[in-house]
Amino acid sequence: MDQTEVSRGEVLRYMGCKGAQSEAVMALVEDCLAQLGQACEPRHLTAVFPLSLSADGGIDGGCFRTHSRNLSRNLADCHKIIVFAATLGTGADHLIHKYSRLEMSRAVVMQAAAAAMIEEYCDQVCSGLKAEYEARGEYLRPRFSPGYGDFPLECQPALLGALEAGKRIGIKLTDSLLMMPSKSVTAVMGISKKPHRCDVRGCEACGKTDCAYRR
Ligand code: SF4
Repeated sequence: MDQTEVSRGEVLRYMGCKGAQSEAVMALVEDCLAQLGQACEPRHLTAVFPLSLSADGGIDGGCFRTHSRNLSRNLADCHKIIVFAATLGTGADHLIHKYSRLEMSRAVVMQAAAAAMIEEYCDQVCSGLKAEYEARGEYLRPRFSPGYGDFPLECQPALLGALEAGKRIGIKLTDSLLMMPSKSVTAVMGISKKPHRCDVRGCEACGKTDCAYRR
């Protein structure tokens, strides 16, 4: 992946830094991003499923069933969903583990840079999907991941299974439902015929504070 597109501000945010940083810190950020750019091969999968919502927050997403008020609200007026998974692959984890043993400060920056990189990759993929769907008169809601709000983490196996993400892009789940490689994302995105343009970075970054679908 082209690491020049990753927001340096987001890397610093994941590091917990505020304001301008020293040249040495910024040089370390650049170095980590360059290493990640060499080591990572981001990949993603998508599949479309029918959607049915019930008044009590019940969701039948074709490949999973659950109860979530937060996700139901976000998916209101949608007739289908895209199930999405993406990963940076094992390269990022190898670098993080390597520097955890050799140079802890670099490991911390690597962790933050990899987190910003997978988010940037997801935003790029979703921007492409958004444009593709809008061209045929359908509108995408932002990514909504298991574990966010009251969308249960227990839906993770069904989403990954529906995409055959283990076999196709190497995303596995631990017994505690954490994804391996660690820099992986799963999400659901609603598809609606109502013209409603969402911010691809999600509701937190969106200026429409009175939106009925805001999560
Ligand atoms: S708040 Fe913005 S991103 Fe969130 S559902 Fe509404 S329009 Fe979409």
